[in-house]
Amino acid sequence: MNIGIIGYQGDVSEHVEIFHKLSREYKRDIDPIIIKDKRYLKSISGLIIPGGESTTIYKFLKEYDLFEPIRTMVSWGLHVMGTCAGLVLISKDDPGSRVRGMNLLDVKIRRNAYGRQMDSFSEFIDLEGIGRFNAVFIRAPVIEEVGDVVVLAKHKGIPVMVRSERVLGLSFHPELTGDTRVHEYFVEMIGGEGYTSIPERKYTIEEFI
Ligand code: GLN
Repeated sequence: MNIGIIGYQGDVSEHVEIFHKLSREYKRDIDPIIIKDKRYLKSISGLIIPGGESTTIYKFLKEYDLFEPIRTMVSWGLHVMGTCAGLVLISKDDPGSRVRGMNLLDVKIRRNAYGRQMDSFSEFIDLEGIGRFNAVFIRAPVIEEVGDVVVLAKHKGIPVMVRSERVLGLSFHPELTGDTRVHEYFVEMIGGEGYTSIPERKYTIEEFI
């Protein structure tokens, strides 16, 4: 299974490394592919939008014309995991914000609301379906409102991990501690379904891209 990682800025190599570890140690057949060009979207079943700086990642997604194609591909069955800055990008659009959301996950977030870089912290929290996990928060977005999603974890009463059918969003960074379980959860979420299995789409991927 090919999993793409948006590769302009942020924790790109960390996600690649975790997927290599998952393949190596747990015998999962996963090829991580760094994506900077929309043509590569057609070869993946899952996509990671990493943590980093959401304004920068947003700018490049628009400049290289990946923003709308990703949205369309999710409607065709592509699975997405957004972590921290990636969560900002997949959440509900706020027209007043410098970073526009893709409306892929029914949550309203507030950027940088966990405080400044100096306020970064890590803490063990319980993730539903995964267990106790060392969660690293770095100038993270706060999930302020949740709509039609399942909350998988909370920290001090605030949701920090939520999912819909195909989209997983986390305020923290699961790629920083060497623990592969959240990435494995995402792979399980994808299961056998790639977006090629969606019959009702209007175009072929080649026509679209
Ligand atoms: N503060 C960042 C943003 O809103 C996110 C921080 C992170 O990904 N660690 O872009």
